[in-house]
Amino acid sequence: MQSNTVFDLSSPPGIPIVDEPRLFPVRRIFCVGRNYAAHAAEMGNEVDRSAPFYFTKSARALCLSGSSVPYPPGTGDCHHEMEFVVAIGAPAFRVSREDAMQAVYGFGCGIDLTRRDLQAAAKAKGRPWDLGKDFENAAIMGAITRAEQFGPIGDQRITLDLDGARVQDARLSDMIWTVPELLSDLSRYYHLRPGDLLFTGTPAGVGPVEAGSVLEGTVTGLSPLSVTVTAAP
Ligand code: MN
Repeated sequence: MQSNTVFDLSSPPGIPIVDEPRLFPVRRIFCVGRNYAAHAAEMGNEVDRSAPFYFTKSARALCLSGSSVPYPPGTGDCHHEMEFVVAIGAPAFRVSREDAMQAVYGFGCGIDLTRRDLQAAAKAKGRPWDLGKDFENAAIMGAITRAEQFGPIGDQRITLDLDGARVQDARLSDMIWTVPELLSDLSRYYHLRPGDLLFTGTPAGVGPVEAGSVLEGTVTGLSPLSVTVTAAP
């Protein structure tokens, strides 16, 4: 096909979907900070219950379950953050909490890979988190399960095993801001569109990965996620 751009970036990155041969194309990636009280506490932060807060990752930060992830550059303290991810399938802008779930296509297991040392340095100086959060392979995704197949969000278990040892273990009901609350709030600032992802925050138990680490994440009812960290190139 003839392209009218000077470089060919081809199609958007896509995520496999359970029982669907086509991929879920990724448009934007939004992430919520401090959405589990025990994780906020382990990071030394107070929970701010006045409003959720967000950061973003490039769609090009996507990495699929089953991949090898080279240890990221520029960090000596790269952390795993296991998260429940919402995949948007319909437009939503200024949507009410009551109507918010109508915009949801499905859900997936995700890892918000974080260069903790760079994030901490940015926090200390009041600078943006981009270097700590938005880098290649920093948005790891398992296959997406459609919302009707998953059913209502309740107290499903969310876990992460690091080299076979359970390090993160919580319930989706532990989230401070529920998914409808997050979507309603986020849609006050953005026109959410099909292809957008929302990482809903991590439970307690975050920690460093290293070359050779195997990360296996689960949420009850979702396709599990697994990646191996390899030596820095
Ligand atoms: Mn996170």
